[in-house]
Order: sequence, then structure tokens, then C-alpha cells
Amino acid sequence: MKGWAGNREHRYYFFLNKYDDIAFTRCPKCNRETRKRMFCLFIHIEPKQLISFNKSCRFCPDCGLIIVKKKELENYLVAMCEKHNPDIIGNDYVVLGTIDRDLHQKGKQGKLNINTAIDCFIPFIDHLTFEVHGGWQPKGK
Ligand SMILES: [Zn+2]
Repeated sequence: MKGWAGNREHRYYFFLNKYDDIAFTRCPKCNRETRKRMFCLFIHIEPKQLISFNKSCRFCPDCGLIIVKKKELENYLVAMCEKHNPDIIGNDYVVLGTIDRDLHQKGKQGKLNINTAIDCFIPFIDHLTFEVHGGWQPKGK
């Protein structure tokens, strides 16, 4: 999978938030407030399914960090796979990067060649993980 990245532009970091009750309204890296922003996420599901979808994410513009709740993401994945590909639900997946809105639209219309998608998506610089210790956290914010 690494080879796909080539030497194209890398733009964002990605954090898959495993905490249901913590929204990271503040960036875990710099502690500034995060914003909501739409991103077209590009995802690989084992064994060989690639999908993209448009999702509202938490975003820190200073760090270029996209934060997505794991549970929300997986609910989307289930909803998308239920119709066309129920066999792959529960398989391993990787959020590879983001994809341009035009390409995402083309994909939705079935007009996107898979090789074009692989050539054009923007891989994350890195996947980051942040652990929250202790229970003194604002809930649901
Ligand atoms: Zn930040």
C-alpha cells in the first residue's frame, strides 16, 4: 500500500478517534479549537474494495489534522456496503487519504476509473493516535 503514495502531494494527518464520548473540540496536538469541515475520505477495505465518501470531520487547520470518530466512520461503511457488498462488512480497512470532490462525484456516478482514483487521491502524511488518560473530560462536546 505504501507504494501508492509515490511522491505526490501530502496534505493532512489523520486521527481515527476511538472514543465515542470525546469529540476533540480541541486539537490533541496543539490544543486550539477544531472546526467542522467536509472531507471526501478515500478508504480501502480488505480484500480489494475502494470507496470514497463525503463526511463532516473535526479539523485543526494549524496542524492539518483530520479527526474522525471510529464508530461514525464504521456506521457509514456498513451503510455503504450493505447494499452492494455485504460480504466485506467487518473486514479490515484503512483510510488512505482524501480525494477531490470532483473525483468523488464521478465515483458516485460510476464514472471513476479505479486506477485514476488510486493515482489521484491524496495520501495522509501520517496516521496519528492520541490517548486520553483519566476521566476528567468534558462529555459529548
Ligand atoms: Zn492542532
